[in-house]
Amino acid sequence: MRRVAGLSLALDLGGRGHHVTVVERANQFRVSGSSIDVRGDALDIADRMGLLARIKENRVRATELSVFVDADGRGIGQMSWSEFDVSDHDIDIAREDLAQIMIDALPAGTTVRLREHLESLADDGAGVDVRFASGGTGRFALVLGADGQHSAVRCLAFGAEKDYLRHLGLYVALAELPGERRADRLNPVYNFLGHMATIWRYKDRALAGFAFRPDLVRGLGYEKAHIFGMGCGIRHQLGERSPTPTSPLCDADTTAS
Ligand SMILES: Cc1cc2nc3c(=O)[nH]c(=O)nc-3n(C[C@H](O)[C@H](O)[C@H](O)COP(=O)(O)OP(=O)(O)OC[C@H]3O[C@@H](n4cnc5c(N)ncnc54)[C@H](O)[C@@H]3O)c2cc1C
Repeated sequence: MRRVAGLSLALDLGGRGHHVTVVERANQFRVSGSSIDVRGDALDIADRMGLLARIKENRVRATELSVFVDADGRGIGQMSWSEFDVSDHDIDIAREDLAQIMIDALPAGTTVRLREHLESLADDGAGVDVRFASGGTGRFALVLGADGQHSAVRCLAFGAEKDYLRHLGLYVALAELPGERRADRLNPVYNFLGHMATIWRYKDRALAGFAFRPDLVRGLGYEKAHIFGMGCGIRHQLGERSPTPTSPLCDADTTAS
């Protein structure tokens, strides 16, 4: 569990002298996704973790413009990225940079197991016996699941996620757009009722982002049929080239309780 929550836990517990094992299912510490806004309480927490200076060094300067377009790709309004910030103190940073800063700060002695996940756990009150997918076993004082909204650790400990996840009514999909770097730093946004399609450009990367609310647009198979097809306003921005998504991420926005 390598991302924000897992690495934060590892930093905090490791900093208090505990021996921490970080288990990550993926095969590398590379993350994709949109840039992330560090704001509010997160700024104070990052400061106390000793990470704020490096986060500031790696900030993505919000000089980019979001240009709202119509279905023909014509601009109908624009906003600078900085106008989306909640306060002037917000810091935009690429997710991969934030992850790397946290990885670099892990205390010596932290064990990192990539391409690994838990297959079973048994808590006897004094500790937790774990069996890893690779076949290894281990006994730990505490197992903390920070493996995302579809947490497999939560399933092992508490049962099926349908009992814990509450859908918030929004679907989001992201896909990398290789070769979409542009000097003008324009980020087209195409909105119509219940839908949003956009291209985010930051640093040397470009991502396609799609979001929609199925309660506003009901229809069988809607998600699969339409989510990559609705970017008509965006397609105009891409010219004749179609996006070649790599590492696509498509998920429902949910909360666990
Ligand atoms: C488009 C978008 C924009 C966002 N913008 C912001 C923002 O500006 N600011 C903000 O604060 N938040 C933002 N968020 C929310 C933020 O991304 C999440 O809150 C955050 O990623 C949650 O971190 P996490 O570490 O809990 O989980 P995740 O980031 O989902 O990380 C889970 C990790 O666990 C690993 N994993 C999964 N299954 C297993 C397993 N079985 N065993 C081991 N490892 C496993 C995954 O590979 C992954 O590395 C945004 C989200 C989206 C979708």
